[in-house]
Amino acid sequence: MYMIASVVLNNATRAFDKEYYYLIPMDLTGKIKPGIRVMVPFGAGNRPREAYVIDVFPFNNSSCDERNSYNEYATTIDVSQLKDILRPVDEKPVVDRDMLKLAAWMRERYICTFGDAIKCMYPAGKGAKEKTLKAAYLAVTREEAERMIQDNKLKKIQHIRVLEMLMDNEFIPVCDVTKFAGVSSSVLDTLKKYGLVNYKEVRITRNPLKSRKIRQTQPLVPTPEQAKALDFLKKKLEENRYYECLIHGVTGSGKTEVYLQLIHHAIDMGKEAIVLVPEISLTPQMVERFRERFGNEVAVLHSRLSQGERYDQWSLVKDGHIKVVVGARSAVFAPLKNLGIIIIDEEHEGTYKSETTPKYHAAEIARKRCYEKGAMLLYGSATPSCETYFKAKKGLIGLLELKSRTNNMVMPEVEIVDMRKELEEGNRSVFSRKLQDEIKNNIKLGQQTMLFLNRRGHSSFVLCRNCGYVVKCVGCSINMTYHAYEDRLICHYCGYTIRPPKICPKCKSTHIRHFGAGTQKVEEEVKKQFPGCSVIRMDIDTTTCKNSHEKILRDFCENNINVMVGTQMIAKGHDFHNVTLVGVLAADSLLNLGDYRASERTFQLITQVAGRAGRGDLPGRVIIQAYNTEDFSIQAALRHDFETFFKQEIMIRKKLNYPPFTNIASIILSGANEKQVSETASQVKKDLLKEFCSSETSEGNITEILGPVPAPIKKIMNKYRWRIIIKCEDMEKLIKALTCISDKYCSKTGRRPVELGIDINPFNML
Ligand code: ADP
Ligand code: ZN
Ligand code: ZN
Repeated sequence: MYMIASVVLNNATRAFDKEYYYLIPMDLTGKIKPGIRVMVPFGAGNRPREAYVIDVFPFNNSSCDERNSYNEYATTIDVSQLKDILRPVDEKPVVDRDMLKLAAWMRERYICTFGDAIKCMYPAGKGAKEKTLKAAYLAVTREEAERMIQDNKLKKIQHIRVLEMLMDNEFIPVCDVTKFAGVSSSVLDTLKKYGLVNYKEVRITRNPLKSRKIRQTQPLVPTPEQAKALDFLKKKLEENRYYECLIHGVTGSGKTEVYLQLIHHAIDMGKEAIVLVPEISLTPQMVERFRERFGNEVAVLHSRLSQGERYDQWSLVKDGHIKVVVGARSAVFAPLKNLGIIIIDEEHEGTYKSETTPKYHAAEIARKRCYEKGAMLLYGSATPSCETYFKAKKGLIGLLELKSRTNNMVMPEVEIVDMRKELEEGNRSVFSRKLQDEIKNNIKLGQQTMLFLNRRGHSSFVLCRNCGYVVKCVGCSINMTYHAYEDRLICHYCGYTIRPPKICPKCKSTHIRHFGAGTQKVEEEVKKQFPGCSVIRMDIDTTTCKNSHEKILRDFCENNINVMVGTQMIAKGHDFHNVTLVGVLAADSLLNLGDYRASERTFQLITQVAGRAGRGDLPGRVIIQAYNTEDFSIQAALRHDFETFFKQEIMIRKKLNYPPFTNIASIILSGANEKQVSETASQVKKDLLKEFCSSETSEGNITEILGPVPAPIKKIMNKYRWRIIIKCEDMEKLIKALTCISDKYCSKTGRRPVELGIDINPFNML
């Protein structure tokens, strides 16, 4: 009898992403377990490759169908052909059997590899047993680096950001540089090639979790609405059966308190919980509320942790010390063994959809995990997505409504200002006269104001008034954005950066200016128009460093800063009691996105932003500025009227055949040669037509294939992009067709002149 392990390669293309069998040498018996990584000799050259052990089983030529195989090709095994496993990489499994099963499901559902799926499930850098890490440091002096940046020698904002980070530190682990600068490690390699950066091995020294004294809080006495919801949900929890439910509660209706008490109940039942929140509402405030209730049984997982901290938190969960995991999207994979409930707060948020392979939605993973475990999946939102609310209305999932705010705080008064009129009447400021008066008044009263704008940077574009020339990125078909603080133009897609031109490159006119206010410009205007007013800005550009957004929030709160200016970041989850005025500049800017969710997002943003005002004892006011004031999403948001908004929106979705009435898949073909891209796109379309034609049923289950046409953003990083959209109600059929296309057009060996990307129900249609 032999011991055999089935493994899948860690870094495989889909063509090689299947189970392979290896013999377990005698001396490794007991060390090779499902879920650990091993090194195996692979291919004709026996090159060592890293692989995951899927299963371990004895083999005597007859028992092979007793185990669950993840791969339909391998049914017979010829032992004489098998090679030996070289050595184990891990001592303990990095993932358990449930997670291996989930990975197998993800592989099919997201048309990715096993390795792609498993990588979502544990923190990177895990297994670096040596306790040393590769770190980067500046290979030149600070002054030299400074000069390089000043003299404009670097053309990529990513290069500049990384250098600036390294200038302030002796060294930083590579994994932390890539994380906090939001870049790939190839950026560091390039800087090394330039001779600006070098690597060394450093020992990891990590501050053990500071065991801060936490004041324990007791559950609040529920309001009648909360009590009704809690009774119902607790009973459901006790049934130990899969159950899915939406809490639709206005902002400040006490949803979080319901989560806390429900989790308490789950813990009493011996179960564990995951709470997902959008990355940016993972503020200290939010985390504190869970820590105060559940103490050290809470782990927090989010992308702003350093690699070391992340690994520590993950280990605590894995070793069974944790009852509640609070985290952003990837926390949905937290390795809790006795999962009883997953809560997804702000269910409608786009940050739950992964933009990189595998392009999963956290709710889909949560649904799968809860289904397997007989657990509860609970969504919460003041502005649920049309998809989720539709299911709730149809009774496919539960629906609970919280209609009043706790302490009966009134909803803020919302007023709209037509900016076209302001312009007609000679006001060229970014602020309407109404908003100016209110800000002034608020400063006088010592109350705080939040100004919200959906555009970071200083101005949206630089335009020549003489000839109409607009400065675009050389590699992307996108206007470059002016950033005043750095006095640079930056491409938000690829990071290419130049100094703003003083004369028009096309007609040599000097009338080249920036237009369209961004957050930096608004910050500047506040300072100019309200002398002596303190102002703070919060957007991606001010929050790339670790803890910086927490610092900004604390600063705003503790120092009673008059005005905060920010992008949608500030629209999320914060509870500032002294904020009584919220201004939304260009509220209609999202409407022109060219995305079927444009109205939904406009409604959500206005409602969420408005919810920031009047969280304390003082009533709040909201002023909305827009050019298109009549749009139904804006009008409904003014009246806090979700029902009416939903009724209209769902009618439009039905008429135009958009989700929830169908599924959408976007196929993007991209490459350097536009002709090749468009030709491949046509070929893909032909193949799709064949695929769908052969499986088309007669029951009017229509599939639409739109395109190929150039994508809304025609070029990114010198690659032309063409898009095909498929609308297909039958998810299984859709995935089957896409898998065929993917396997045909994604090459076995990696790079191809035309690359193909697939996103099912994408959040971003550009
Ligand atoms: P949501 O998550 O719906 O926005 P929160 O749970 O944050 O609402 O509640 C809003 C505010 O109301 C918080 O300050 C919270 O402490 C308070 N609150 C919630 N439930 C109660 C209750 N039952 N009694 C008193 N105050 C409550
Ligand atoms: Zn010009
Ligand atoms: Zn670019």
